[in-house]
Parts: sequence; C-alpha cells; structure tokens
Amino acid sequence: MDLFTLSLCTVLLSAMMAITLSALFLTNTADKAMRDWSLAGVCFLACSLLILVASVRTVPWLLTPVLSNTLYIAAHGFVLSGITSQTRSVNSHLSIGVFSAFVLLMHFNDAISSNVEFRMLAIYPVMLTLNLLSVFHLWRFRHSAHGKSYWAVMTIILLFIVHTAGSAVAILLFPDHLEFLGNDIIQTTNSLVVLLYISGLTLGLIFVHAWKREVTLKTVSRTDALTGWFNRHALNESASREFIRCQRNQLSFAFVTFDIDFFKNVNDQYGHTTGDRAIRHIANVAREATREYDYHFRLGGEEFVIMLAGLKVSDVKAIAERVRFAIQSTPLCMVTESLPLSVSVGMATMEQGDLGWHVVLERADDALYAAKKGGRNNTRFLTANALSLVKG
Ligand code: GH3
Ligand code: MG
Ligand code: MG
Repeated sequence: MDLFTLSLCTVLLSAMMAITLSALFLTNTADKAMRDWSLAGVCFLACSLLILVASVRTVPWLLTPVLSNTLYIAAHGFVLSGITSQTRSVNSHLSIGVFSAFVLLMHFNDAISSNVEFRMLAIYPVMLTLNLLSVFHLWRFRHSAHGKSYWAVMTIILLFIVHTAGSAVAILLFPDHLEFLGNDIIQTTNSLVVLLYISGLTLGLIFVHAWKREVTLKTVSRTDALTGWFNRHALNESASREFIRCQRNQLSFAFVTFDIDFFKNVNDQYGHTTGDRAIRHIANVAREATREYDYHFRLGGEEFVIMLAGLKVSDVKAIAERVRFAIQSTPLCMVTESLPLSVSVGMATMEQGDLGWHVVLERADDALYAAKKGGRNNTRFLTANALSLVKG
C-alpha cells in the first residue's frame, strides 16, 4: 500500500478512536482516564491528518515533521496518562509535556532535521519509554479489581513495542535509503502497524471502560449510600456463600446484630439530618472496633449486622461487647453539645441442624430483642436450645 492510502486509513481510524472515546468520556466527565484516552485519539487524528496532507502536497517543515511528530509522541503520552489515571488516580501530564517538548526541540538539531533515519532513531527511545511505562503500570495493577480488563491493552502495547524495536534494528542494519514520507518497506510497515495499533488500542480501551462500569454498577447495587456498608442485597449473596464455605470447612459462622437505642427520640429532638449523621457515626465507630475483613451490613433503618467467620464463641462475644462499648464511649459531637448514643446487641453462631444463614440471623435478631427487653445498651448471645426454652 502507498503512503497516501495508509495515511487516509489512519485518519479514519484515529477519527473513530477520538469520536468513540470522547463520546464515552461525555457519558461520565469525572472519568479522567477516558478524558486522556480521548485526547490521545485527538492527537493521533491531528498527526495523521498532517501526514495525509503532506503526502499529497508540500507543507511547511514546522507542520510536518515537527508538529506531526510532537503530536504523535503526545498521543502516546496521553495513552500513558490515561493508564496512570486509571490505575493510580494520578495523571502523567508533566511527562507528556517533557517528552513532547523534547521531541519538538530535537527537530532543531541539524543532524536530526536533515536525516529521516536519525529522526526516527531519535524518536523511537522516547516512544519506547512511554509505552514501556504504560505496560509497567498495567502489569503492576493486573491483580486489582479491574486488572483482568488490562490484558488486551497490555498485549497490544507490547506488540507495538516489539515492532518499534524491530524497526529500529532494521534502520540500523540497512541505513541510508529512507526518504522523507517515502514508501520504503520499513515506513509502510510502520504505518500499517500504527493503523493496527490504533484500532486494537481503541477496542482494548473500550473493554477497560466497560469492565470498570460493570464493577462500579455492581458495587453501587451492593452498597448502602448513607454508611458505605454493604446492603441487604449484598447480605443475601455473601451470607449464602460464607455459610456454605464455613459448613464445608467446619468453621464457625456468626452474626452480630445491633440496633440504636431510642433512635426515634434522636430524630424527633434533633431532626432527620442529625439522625442520619448519628447512623453514619455509629457505622464508623463499629467498623473501627472490628476488622477490615469482617463483613459489615446495614439492613435499612438503624439496624446493622456484622458477619464473622472462623471465630470462637468467646471471640464473637468479645467483638460484640467491643462494638457496644465503643459506641457507648464515643458520643456524636455536635456544634454545641455531644449526643450520647448506645446500641443493643444480639449474636448467634451456626449450630448443627441450622438449615441456612437465615436461621442464624433470626436467632441473632431474637437475641437483639432480648437485649432490648433486658434494658438496652447490653449484649445477648442466644443458642438454639436457649431459644426453644424461651419460646416454650
Ligand atoms: P429501640 O430502642 O426500641 O430501638 O427504640 P427506637 O426508637 O430506636 O425504635 P426503632 O428501632 O423502631 O426506631 C426506628 C426509627 O429509625 C424509626 C425511624 O424514624 C428511624 N429511621 C429509620 N431509618 C432512618 C434513616 O435512614 N435515617 C434517619 N434519620 N432515621 C431513620
Ligand atoms: Mg432502635
Ligand atoms: Mg430499629
């Protein structure tokens, strides 16, 4: 294929990349990664347009190669910046500026401006550095929540790196026959690879975006907006899974449930907004009093559940008491006063004959009811035996 045809195809594909990724960015303008990736598409488009024009008529040297090469490096920089925004929530705009300025200025060196091969060999290390950094970041975060979606982009960038290195070796082995915007096999192969790179990268980035959206939707549908704890829907999923795992591995399984005492009074006296703050406060204090890997649920209203696996009964009782004591000792600070709060706590562990996690939770709820009846601000543990005695 000649340079004009390849340039035209590159313009069309980079336009598709810029439009598609910009449209995805517009659906969520808080997505900094997608903003950088759409800017990468815009830079690829501007660069390929300049080359297309230069392939049919003479254009000023400052436009092609100076500006087109600078835009090409900026495009690779924006790909990297989108990746660091995605993986570490930090952009790499400074690197884009430094690398692009370096490439822009290198054109004013006589040897580089007068020789196509020198120019390509000077730009390759910059391009390789940016792409190796992209792969490095994706590789480092391959085990994160979105890690599986990084493999496609990682593979595409790696293939591009291999080609760039191969192209550099070919130029070194066969020097002195490349012309500016020529149709040498090295140049047409490069253009073809850029074409494939842009198409593959666009698809890979769309895949990363779709994966991220799916994970976000799943997290939102399982999370209580007020406290950040899991909600009832998440309880159904997690408790079924944990109950079966604990049964199979002969591990203990327990629920600690608690409910704020006299909470209606808080709402009536201080209003719903303060009531909401109190719910958030209690959730924070209870989380501090437990381990990060315990499961925390808010089942609506001011009722909370903590699910524990693999603990002795004495440990479950100690955790319940720790939660109760922490809440009692940490009043909610308001502007003029501090509001003392307390919870009543019920707990139950899995016993032989329990057919499912619901049975354990119901027993913990009965224990909570007993704690309320017993004067509030206390903890109660209930076994199936004790419950059958109570209920007659
Ligand atoms: P008890 O000691 O028996 O638990 O007394 P209580 O007043 O806390 O009674 P109950 O647990 O039945 O109180 C539930 C109240 O919680 C009713 C409702 O006004 C309030 N509530 C439920 N959900 C929310 C919420 O999301 N925000 C606020 N501010 N209040 C809520
Ligand atoms: Mg209550
Ligand atoms: Mg209640």
